[in-house]
Amino acid sequence: MARSSPRKKPTVNYNEGEAPKPLARAVAKVKSLAAKATHKRKAAAEEADDGEVNGHSNGTPAAPAPKKRRTAKASKDEQGGMPLAERTAVASLKKAMYIGAHVSAAGGVQNSIPNAVHIGANAFALFLKSQRKWDNPAMTDEARDLFLHNCKEHGYDAGAHALPHGSYLVNLAQPDAAKADQAYASFVDDLRRCEQLGVRLYNFHPGSTLGDARPAAVARIAAQLNKAHRETSSVVTVLENMAGGGNVIGATWEDLRDVIALVDDKDRVGVCIDTCHAFAAGHDLRTPEAFDKTMDAFNDVVGAKYLKAFHRTLTTCLQAKSNPPPPPYPRPLRPVSVCSRS
Ligand SMILES: [Zn+2]
Repeated sequence: MARSSPRKKPTVNYNEGEAPKPLARAVAKVKSLAAKATHKRKAAAEEADDGEVNGHSNGTPAAPAPKKRRTAKASKDEQGGMPLAERTAVASLKKAMYIGAHVSAAGGVQNSIPNAVHIGANAFALFLKSQRKWDNPAMTDEARDLFLHNCKEHGYDAGAHALPHGSYLVNLAQPDAAKADQAYASFVDDLRRCEQLGVRLYNFHPGSTLGDARPAAVARIAAQLNKAHRETSSVVTVLENMAGGGNVIGATWEDLRDVIALVDDKDRVGVCIDTCHAFAAGHDLRTPEAFDKTMDAFNDVVGAKYLKAFHRTLTTCLQAKSNPPPPPYPRPLRPVSVCSRS
């Protein structure tokens, strides 16, 4: 079948055992590069869950893990036991939209690329560092170079097709000064990692009032964003809508609008709509009519120009409520779409 993807080197229509030789070589090359860069990552990778990133402290290689002969089974397990999937030909879609999932970056950001290739993703989300730890080693030059190399090799434009997700620990609305500084330091560190990797969009949860007045909390988020924008040069900070409840900011379109209103550089802020969060917050998306109505409301309150991406999690959300629950995926994947406006 003819390749129809607009990518320079689309990885379409092959299974691992019967790959055409150039593709097989490309895949093997990425795997060997990733393996070469991170052959010591096994111990760390084992403790990492989906998406958790490990790295080397201060650019110094971590202590070598015990050597273990790699087997075909180990390699298959590492890839989730899934066959290589073909990418959607973006040019065949009515509107250019890059579809993928949140992929693991265990062992280093460079490993997100083969993981994205493996599932046929045209776009992907990842964690740039552990999403559950405050202390993280700096990203190594080697990891950065391999990420850039792998993107090029597989035709990903990190600026358009990657949407890293922020730490779950960071709350930019934090009222406590010391904790706010800690949150900010982690946040801006992620933005700097984005810029090193050529990533243009960075997705994060707005935060929680922690019981404080909502306008003050919204103002703190915007102030942190303004500071972060001044200290970086290009990355767009993408607010995610939330399921809501209590002190959480972002369950209403108005919350997102109010944060954006206080951001000085409107080109540096956007929105990612998580469909499960939206549904849980009362925005129906289950039919084309309901979807249109919800998106009209978003456009009226926030503005479609700020929409950068979707987390298409509604199905998972609805399945989670079904009884009996659906069988588990081979590994957790959170579908992501990155809208292209070019
Ligand atoms: Zn999220």
